[in-house]
Formats: sequence, structure tokens, C-alpha cells
Amino acid sequence: MSPILAISGLGKQFGGVTALAGVDLAVEEGEILGVVGPNGSGKTTLFNVVTGVHKPSGGTVLFRGRDITGLAPHAISRAGIGYTFQQAMAFAGLGVLENVQIAGEHRRAGGAANPWPTPQALLDFVGLSALGGEKAGVLPFGSLRLLGLALALATRPSLLLLDEPAAGLNDRETSALVGLVRQLPGHGITVCVIDHDMKLMQMLCRRLAVLDFGSKIADGPTEKVLADPKVLDVYLGG
Ligand code: ADP
Repeated sequence: MSPILAISGLGKQFGGVTALAGVDLAVEEGEILGVVGPNGSGKTTLFNVVTGVHKPSGGTVLFRGRDITGLAPHAISRAGIGYTFQQAMAFAGLGVLENVQIAGEHRRAGGAANPWPTPQALLDFVGLSALGGEKAGVLPFGSLRLLGLALALATRPSLLLLDEPAAGLNDRETSALVGLVRQLPGHGITVCVIDHDMKLMQMLCRRLAVLDFGSKIADGPTEKVLADPKVLDVYLGG
């Protein structure tokens, strides 16, 4: 089966800084893939290029075989790639349920590939149904992150990109989040997550790709990658 996302030779320069130096990466349909790497290794830039926030300096991104390289963010979202932000992006003055409804209105037109249920069902899924009538602005941090997940799911993605989904969450909230994310492939949603929290990545991902200075230095089964001397060197050798 061809990958849902195929990244080839992806490069990104910011002035003299090489953020991505020709990255090849395939995301297989139905998996939860982790992309790890130290600070400044290019993880966020990779996401920003895939979602259209930044145009690449070179290379291609194919989504379900279609070339989406350099398309605008709304076109990429409509094609079926969703993402969550490190900062939850809810409208603080609107209700929790209302936020999910609004996010759902931006879902891709005629996208029948992922018949995810109603906004209320999404709130049930993330465990916020009791708070549907509250203003998003009053939610505690952990609940706001869960709302962020519901907002991303409301756009009915077939590929969901998660950027440090557990940052700032306590252990209980983190395991709730892990439980939710693990269910997504069963709903037809492939997941790619970036984080430097190895404990979280080991819980979530069977496969890891490792970036260092904008290059991919390892890619394979999680346990194997974590035992790779090149990877240990990056994380422990400094
Ligand atoms: P990570 O997410 O792994 O911490 P980033 O993708 O944020 O890494 O950063 C990779 C490199 O690109 C860093 O050297 C960073 O300073 C640089 N960089 C990222 N975004 C920008 C930008 N908008 N302008 C200039 N340099 C950037």
C-alpha cells in the first residue's frame, strides 16, 4: 500500500539557517508515527511545511498520491490534513460546543472519507461533554488541550498532525490523551506526532523517525530506534 503522506527531499532554508536538509519520510495509513529530535532539529518546520504555513525550499509532499507541495493552509486542511497547535486555538468567548461546531463548518466540502460524528459526539469522545455550555476561556489548561483535539477532529482529517500534544499536561491528563490518540486509527485517522518527550513517544508510537540538524538520522521500530547508537549520541552525547 502506498503511504498516506510521502515526503521526498524536503528542504527549508531560513536565510542562512538550514531547518530541513532533504528529508524523506513516509507516513503509512493507519499508523501513529512519532517524529523526535532535539530542540532546533526541524520538527516544527517539518509540520509547518506539510501544513502549508511555510513553503519549502525544495522537495515534494504527496498526500494520498496528490502533490500538495506549497499549497495554502486552507487547501491542505480541506484535502484532509488536520493539526493541533501547542497553544490551544479556541475562541475564548464562545461556548465549548460552539467552538467544535464552528471548527466543523470548515471541514472539507464533500469529504465523505471520514464520516466522524457530530460536535456533541466529539465532545463525548474527548470527555468534555459536561462542559459543552461553558465558555472555552474558563477551561483549565488540560481541558483546553482536549478541546484543541476535538477542534482538529471536527475538520474530519484523515491525517492528524499533533505538535507536542502533552506539553503542560499532568500524568493523569497525559494518559487520558494517549488513550484517545490510540483510538484514532480505528476511526480511519492516521496520526503523526512530534515531541521530544521520549516517554510519551514510547507509549504512543510503534515507529519513530529521528531528526537532527534538519536531517533524518534514524527511522524504524521504536525500540530499535531508541537503541540506535546514532540516536543515543544525539540525546545523551550532547
Ligand atoms: P524543532 O521543532 O525541532 O525545535 P524548528 O523546526 O523549530 O525545530 O527549528 C529548526 C531550525 O530552524 C532552528 O535552527 C530554528 O531556529 C530555525 N527556524 C525555525 N523557524 C524559523 C523561522 N520562522 N525563521 C527563522 N528560523 C527559523
